Amino acid sequence: MLPRILIAGIAQEISSFNPVPTEYELFSIQRGDEVFDINKGTATAFAGAIETFENQIDVQLTATFAAKAVSAGPMSAVCWSKLSAEFLDSLRPYVGSVDAIYLSLHGSMGSESELDPEGWVLEQTRLLFGNDVPIVFSLDLHGILTKKMLQFGNGVTAFHTYPHVDLYDTGKRAASLLLKIMAGAKPVIARVRVPAIVRGDELKTDTGCFGEQIRQIKTLEAADEILSGGFLIGNPFTDVPELCCQAFIITDGDQESAEKIAMQLASEFWGNREKMQSRLIPLEDAVSEASSMTGPIIFTDAADAPSSGSPGDSNSIIAEMVRTGYPNTVLAPITDAGVVQMAISAGIGGSFMASIGGSLDPRFTPLEMGYEVKLLSDGNYILESWGVPQYSGPTAVLKSGIFTLVVTSQPVSLFDRSLFLGQGLNPQNFHSIVVKSPHCQPRFFDDWAEHNFNVDAPGSTSANLRSLGHTICERPIFPLDEGVRFSPQVEIYGAN
Ligand SMILES: [Zn+2]
Repeated sequence: MLPRILIAGIAQEISSFNPVPTEYELFSIQRGDEVFDINKGTATAFAGAIETFENQIDVQLTATFAAKAVSAGPMSAVCWSKLSAEFLDSLRPYVGSVDAIYLSLHGSMGSESELDPEGWVLEQTRLLFGNDVPIVFSLDLHGILTKKMLQFGNGVTAFHTYPHVDLYDTGKRAASLLLKIMAGAKPVIARVRVPAIVRGDELKTDTGCFGEQIRQIKTLEAADEILSGGFLIGNPFTDVPELCCQAFIITDGDQESAEKIAMQLASEFWGNREKMQSRLIPLEDAVSEASSMTGPIIFTDAADAPSSGSPGDSNSIIAEMVRTGYPNTVLAPITDAGVVQMAISAGIGGSFMASIGGSLDPRFTPLEMGYEVKLLSDGNYILESWGVPQYSGPTAVLKSGIFTLVVTSQPVSLFDRSLFLGQGLNPQNFHSIVVKSPHCQPRFFDDWAEHNFNVDAPGSTSANLRSLGHTICERPIFPLDEGVRFSPQVEIYGAN
């Protein structure tokens, strides 16, 4: 009889500081064979795993459930209860009839009712299928690998790249690891937690200092000296008890070398912690300097980046420009469903007054402005980065003095020019452009801009980590606390 492997997954990244909860409707869910139909031929972790299983052995694959949502606030209790129940129900019919399980997870999910959703998923899957069915899972580089995940899983792989370009490879490594365990490998996992949260350019794995730890792991994997390894930087915006950075190394029974490697990686990383923080310019200084520059000028507002989990409704930069009488033309995106409705009522060419900003996150004070409606759209456009459809809900282009505002009804990823281009606006025609994303490919903005100001504005995904107000994660932790000491301890899982 062919070996039977079950695959499933559930993934989202949250910002605990976004006050708008994620509801069930935000998830797109693939059920049963949809998981094969939708993923095969793409670059996802599922695709990497499925194609590896099929290429390496004669196998009977079953997919049950794969849920994914864009980054946003923590899941409501109702959302998690429905999602988790559907996930488990999808597995139940296969109890007793599968030999191994692969789960594609993220690691930075969170709900108001469950602070370790992925740990729960692994625990429940283990309880259903028992100890004899090996379970391997994969995580995002920003995942927070918890004790529970390590206790109930047999092995794990994680992205080795930031920006993330190795999803497929991560799925492939997870599938290979699972096949090795099915063939008799005895995984022993050593992990070392580092009490730090990090952000900024030094985390880019091609160019930053963090790339050094990742390169060492990749070398060990390529030489088959370890079964799997990873360095997870956590997601600083997911405020959960086990938030940290961490190294994990999995060997085939060689506990001593797994310990040694994980310790060394964690110590090297700790030494670079100061470097791995963002350099931000005060908002007032950036606006003041940019007023007399030739342009184009980019204002990076990563504190309100929807792709990191923010609602996109910050008006901080606009407000500072209004306050100081900024003299240049400005293009800025903002989420404000109420203002879009008023624009639709006014019609193209119509004008109206309304407060904008802070419609979702009360840390922003709504700002009263007068507008002329230049364009209205249904919010369907194509993502410049990967050519896939995007939807911002009803969307309006409004002009107010120096400002051209693209106002969307719901948050959308803003790591390229898609939203602007989708409304017929070329950002190069403006002096100043607000970009709500921590990093963009240079060709989108930096290549043609005079300067990019990475501003220190308020927001639920601010790289000014001390400004966020963590209350749940274990303390002390760098850089939230002073004088944090690192006394590395190795934890071992799977050895018995
Ligand atoms: Zn990530």
